[in-house]
Amino acid sequence: KIEGTERIDLYRIRVPKGFVPGMKTEGIIFVDETLEQELELESVRQVANVATLPGIVGKSLAMPDIHTGYGFPIGGVAAFDVEEGVISPGGVGYDINCGVRLLKSNLTKEEVEPKIRELIDLLYAHIPSGVGSTGKIKLSPKDEREVIKKGAIWAVEQGFGDAEDLQRIESHGCLEGADPDAISQKAYERGRAQQGTLGSGNHFLEVQYVAEVYEPEIATVMGLSKGQVTVMIHTGSRGFGHQICDDYVRVMLQAAKKYGIELPDKELACVPFRSREGQQYFSAMKGAANYAWANRQCLMHWTREVFLRLFNLSPKDLGMKVVFDVAHNIAKEEFHFINGERKRLIVHRKGATRAFPNGHPELPDCYKDIGQPVLIPGDMGRVSFVLVGLPKAMEETFGSTCHGAGRLLSRNQAIKQARGRSIKQELAERGIIVRSAGKETLAEEMPDAYKDVSNVVDVVHNAGIARKIVKLKPMGVIKG
Ligand code: 5GP
Ligand code: MN
Ligand code: MN
Repeated sequence: KIEGTERIDLYRIRVPKGFVPGMKTEGIIFVDETLEQELELESVRQVANVATLPGIVGKSLAMPDIHTGYGFPIGGVAAFDVEEGVISPGGVGYDINCGVRLLKSNLTKEEVEPKIRELIDLLYAHIPSGVGSTGKIKLSPKDEREVIKKGAIWAVEQGFGDAEDLQRIESHGCLEGADPDAISQKAYERGRAQQGTLGSGNHFLEVQYVAEVYEPEIATVMGLSKGQVTVMIHTGSRGFGHQICDDYVRVMLQAAKKYGIELPDKELACVPFRSREGQQYFSAMKGAANYAWANRQCLMHWTREVFLRLFNLSPKDLGMKVVFDVAHNIAKEEFHFINGERKRLIVHRKGATRAFPNGHPELPDCYKDIGQPVLIPGDMGRVSFVLVGLPKAMEETFGSTCHGAGRLLSRNQAIKQARGRSIKQELAERGIIVRSAGKETLAEEMPDAYKDVSNVVDVVHNAGIARKIVKLKPMGVIKG
């Protein structure tokens, strides 16, 4: 237990005002007693630090996958008033619009199993991955500006996937108002060759199957049923988004002083949302978010091509379609009800997933009745989940839930603990085929490096902010 925190109920603890000086509101962390034992003091302090920022509305929140991040905790959700509040790059994270896309198929586990090695080899050959990986797409400076403005729509226009895919992407894969002139030359240079690449480390492409269905009716609406093969793609905006974050952290550190904002930690660098710098960052961030949506769209297209070829099926028979695509590092302008009053807020989700309930106007028609699919990767050895958002998320968490299991060990700790082991072999013994680009990736990313996602998901399920729909198990994984 972290001294100074108070348990509210089975699934929530409070970080009271006074935990750090200057808190304008309290913090709430969604954890049960098991996950509470894994809480780091530093991440709790980060929840408290966020509560000191100007214009925060409601509480400073953290999900059960919380761990220490840059300034803001990963697993954090914080909303600010658009008139009186701030925007902060640290509240979005370095990998802007890092996110997850889930694809379904008509194939079963039994059909794919005999070909899994071949499938993983082919995917590995066709999906560019690894640190600083460059892709098959070479963007001209003009193309790059198009990507930034159009997101996944650009990818579809280039022949990567179909217009139908766009329906099942958060914000349809494109945020309006991305300003290509708010982005540095350096960011453009880093982004030019990295469109259509997976990246390294935590990013992955995983072939899975549906191992368990909790809510058959809702699963059916998503097109998911037991034994079916799915593909999960986790990547973001690559060096492009990273450079934008870097650029604006620097801008805001200077500008925060000018606006008289006191920062308990420099990593919380922020400016008023309505300030010139705030609006510039927001429109640059949108550009990176769009770049990431185009990226996942391209990777999906090549994944489909590999499946079509290997299984020798028509697109219709393969039935590889998007279930959904979510952002888990992003700031969005949204309306929420605060004490009965409809307010426009800038909601920061950093390692947190939007989880809008049924009936929400931003949901596509196909999911209006069931609520938004929420995609929660676990780790490459255990399981992942699909949930849906619930009304309570609107009341308590600005329509948000967790984004993964969350790290338990730092990369260095994981490498140490993996010494003398073959993670590849251990996974193979569990029937999971992995390939990775990075030398240390499998050690850094071994299942023991993460919390148990089943525990994490049970907390948000039991707290009533999202509901479990299906459980997915890995068959083969490509790690960056
Ligand atoms: P993040 O974006 O915070 O790095 O990662 C999101 C989540 O993905 C992590 O918290 C972890 O639970 C999950 N994850 C990382 N690697 C893998 C993987 O190879 N397979 C699956 N299914 N999940 C993973
Ligand atoms: Mn991510
Ligand atoms: Mn990422």
